[in-house]
Parts: sequence; structure tokens; C-alpha cells
Amino acid sequence: MFKIFSFRRNIVFGVTRKSVDDDKAVNVSCRHASPSVFSLCLLMVEAAVKSAKAAFPIWSSKSPLERSQILNKLADLIEHDLEAFAQAESKDQGKTITFARTVDIPRAVYNFRFFASSILHHTTECTEMATMGCMHYTSRAPVGVAGLISPWNLPLYLLTWKIAPAIACGNTVVAKPSEMTSVTAWMMCKLLEKAGVPHGVVNIVFGTGTKAGEALTCHPDVPLISFTGSTLTAQRITEKSAPYCKRLSLELGGKNPAIIFDDADLTQCIPTTLRSSFANQGEICLCTSRIFVQRGIYSEFLKRFVAEAKKWKVGNPSDPTVDVGALISKEHLEKVRSYVKKAQAEGARVLCGEGVDSLALPTGNQKGYFMLPTVIAEVKDESCCMQEEIFGPVTCVVAFDTEEEVIERANSVKYGLAATVWSSNVGRVHRVAQRLQAGLVWTNCWLVRDLNLPFGGMKASGIGREGAKDSYEFFTEVKTITIKH
Ligand code: NAD
Repeated sequence: MFKIFSFRRNIVFGVTRKSVDDDKAVNVSCRHASPSVFSLCLLMVEAAVKSAKAAFPIWSSKSPLERSQILNKLADLIEHDLEAFAQAESKDQGKTITFARTVDIPRAVYNFRFFASSILHHTTECTEMATMGCMHYTSRAPVGVAGLISPWNLPLYLLTWKIAPAIACGNTVVAKPSEMTSVTAWMMCKLLEKAGVPHGVVNIVFGTGTKAGEALTCHPDVPLISFTGSTLTAQRITEKSAPYCKRLSLELGGKNPAIIFDDADLTQCIPTTLRSSFANQGEICLCTSRIFVQRGIYSEFLKRFVAEAKKWKVGNPSDPTVDVGALISKEHLEKVRSYVKKAQAEGARVLCGEGVDSLALPTGNQKGYFMLPTVIAEVKDESCCMQEEIFGPVTCVVAFDTEEEVIERANSVKYGLAATVWSSNVGRVHRVAQRLQAGLVWTNCWLVRDLNLPFGGMKASGIGREGAKDSYEFFTEVKTITIKH
């Protein structure tokens, strides 16, 4: 069923999911919308773009300080309701309440605070050509209506990672959260007016990708699209937006390696690699899914890693002691499981998790979309488990011998988002990091982020970067002005 929510300030088209059994965190999507929903989507996107366009002159003429104050106020309001947001995110997505409380919602708050601050500190360039009697300088202005499309795995976190820089720079936005996880976006809408966000500056359109998303992609009055999601959808967006020559920022999938040398500190490496493999049910684009371990420590690593993986508690996402919640949907669970089956059929060994251990779920959770953290060994580099993004709690462990060999093997996938390197040899850490084809390389850690610095992937993992300077450049149009004096 669907519903239209019409707020005084922001037009919202919401597709509500069936009420779910909270404990099971089951998601029922609205992907099979009827033709009447399709026309409604188009009308709502049209209305949202119109509203954003009308708000642009006033919002873009506000000073960065005025915009910054409003962003900070919105951050305060979300923070004030942190627990309610976290509960909603956990129930809607299936993630654990602990993850929602400590990662998703605090980061959404921080996204607004971060861009509220960074917008105050940008400078432009100036050069002189003394012999010509000229000076040149650049100026930057907001582009207009920004189209923002985000995925289901980190719903409010990633949506606000786009909304915050876009509006801080003076653009107005039409944002489309994933149809699988729209609740926290809807909750945020209710705070916009209180925060002082003027009418039409932030418009949230709820609907499916092929309908609302595509209508936004193809809208002639939306000159830029910031998209986070799968590589397949990015290809479609690129194709559809090409006739309009839109500016695109694409943050896509990954097949991220962890490279563990024999001089790594395993007491740090094992818990962090467990986290990088299974946090948020493995549904993070930055999750490790290929673990290369140097042969000398391979057996020891595997033994300790599997023993620790078995300790991860799977179950009711609302239970604060649970480590792994429910996967996003039945289809996704089946897809993730199918990779494990394929690996087994190819002769790989499943050391723990799916199909090997039994999943003891609490009463009331048996029908949920749960899966045990799964570790697979003896997988061939060319197998689909080592090449394709699985996006679930599954990780493959293989052995390697030399630095040269592991760099080549780590780079032999179509993706290039993130990598981790574990070694106590500083020279090696630098050498390997330089040669890995990944937009982000963490050494002896994982997911430590400074939002000032570029975030994004290479190869099939994306085009463009996000961060203080990168988002500023994406969401503004630069002009070079030459003055002859
Ligand atoms: P998805 O591509 O299916 O959907 C992402 C968004 O695009 C959703 O809002 C969806 O409705 C919309 N969409 C779908 N089809 C569309 C179309 N034809 N036109 C316009 N919009 C359309 O991705 P997902 O399943 O929601 O998310 C998982 C994927 O996202 C994984 O591949 C993951 O790696 C990737 N991801 C990447 C990053 C990153 O920063 N690189 C972060 C999180 C997730």
C-alpha cells in the first residue's frame, strides 16, 4: 500500500511498507508498484523539482554562516531524537540497535555538523601574470537543484552525507532514499521546519528506483546527480542522464581485500578483520570480502578467525547484545546464500556459518532474514565469490606467498573501493598501499575516517570523490575570472 504525505513545507511521496514484526525486522518492499503509482511518482518528482527550483534563489543568496547555523540546528534536533531514529533505523533495515545507536545516527548528526563547519572555511584561488598586468581568480557558486539518490544499507547516514554538503553549498535538493528503508528520511522531514530550513530547500521523494529515481535522473531541471548504490544502477543512471550532460558523482560497490602479512599484529588484526567482514551483516560497501593471508601464518590466522567468528551473536536486532541483525530482504538473503552454495559446488570449504553451523534464533525470530557469519577457504581467485560483490556476512580467506603476488591478486577484480593492509613493516605498508587499486587503503585499521579527505572508489567502484573539498567542488560551479589592471 502507498500513502501520500503532504507536509506544509516539503512534498513527500511515501510508500509505506506493511507493518512488520519488529523482532524479525522483516522488510517488505514496494518494488512492484502499479502504473498509477508510476504516474504519481512522476507527478511528485515534478512537484518536488518545482519546489526546489523556486527555493533556490533565496537559499543560494544566504550567507554560508546563515546556512551553517541552520545545518547545526538540524543536527541538534536529530541528536535530540537519536534514540527514536536509531530504533526506527534498526527496525526498518534489520541492523542491530547498537550499530544504529553508535554508527548510523551519530554519523548523520555529524554529517550536518561537519559541513556546517567546513562551508565556512573554503578559499578560492588567485594567480598573477605581472608581465601581462593581469590577475586571475576563481569564484564558486551553487549549481541549482541537486538530485540525490541513496541506498538501503546505511539509510540516514548516506542520505545526510549528500544533503548536508549540497545545501551547505547553497543548492536546493530533491533526495530519494531507498524504497527499502525510508522511515528515518521521513522522520527527518518532520524536523526541517523546526530547524529553520526554508520551504522547498529539502524535498524528499519516496518511491522506487525505476520510477522516482529515474524520473529524477531524467529531469531537465536537475543538473547534477549524486548517487550511492550498485554499479549496475550507476550504469543505468549514466545512460539515462547522458542526453542532459549532467554532472554525476557515483559511489558504488566494492570487493575489498584485506592483506595480512606474517608480521601483522594478529591481536589487533583478527577482531578488526571480523568487524570489517561482518559489521552491519556485511552490508557495507567497505566490508572486507577477500582476505589474503601470508602462508606462514595462514593456518593460525584461520583457526583463530573462525573461532572468533563463531562467537558473533546473530538474532533480534533490538537486543543490544546481538552482533548481527537481519539482512535487508528475503531476496537478498537468498542471493547471499547462493554464493555460499556456488563456492561449495566449486570445491571451496565453508569453515563456519551458512550450511555448517546451526542458527539458533530466539522465539519470534525464526522467520527473519538471518544468516550466520560465514568463512570460506580454498576459493579460487576467479570464482564468483572472489570476484562479485556479495554484500552479506560472507568472507573468503586464501593464502599468498609474496608481496608482488598479493598486489596483483588483490587488484584482479573489476572493483576498486577499499583495501586494508596489515603489517608492522612501515616500508611495506607504504609500498603496498601505493600500488593497490583502491580509493581508500587502511593500514592496521579499518573504517577510520577523516571527512576532510576524499572518499570514493576507482574502476567499477565509482566516479568522483566526496569529502570537505571534493563535495564542495562537486556541489558548486567554478568560474575563472581574469582582471587586467
Ligand atoms: P541500488 O543501486 O539497487 O539502489 C540504490 C538507490 O538507487 C536506491 O534509492 C534505488 O531506489 C535507486 N535506483 C534503483 N534503480 C534506479 C534507476 N534506474 N534510476 C535511478 N535510481 C535508481 O543499490 P542498493 O541495493 O540500494 O545498495 C547496495 C549497493 O550500494 C551495493 O552495491 C553497495 O556496495 C553500494 N554502496 C556503495 C557505497 C559507497 O559509498 N561506495 C555506500 C553504500 C552502498
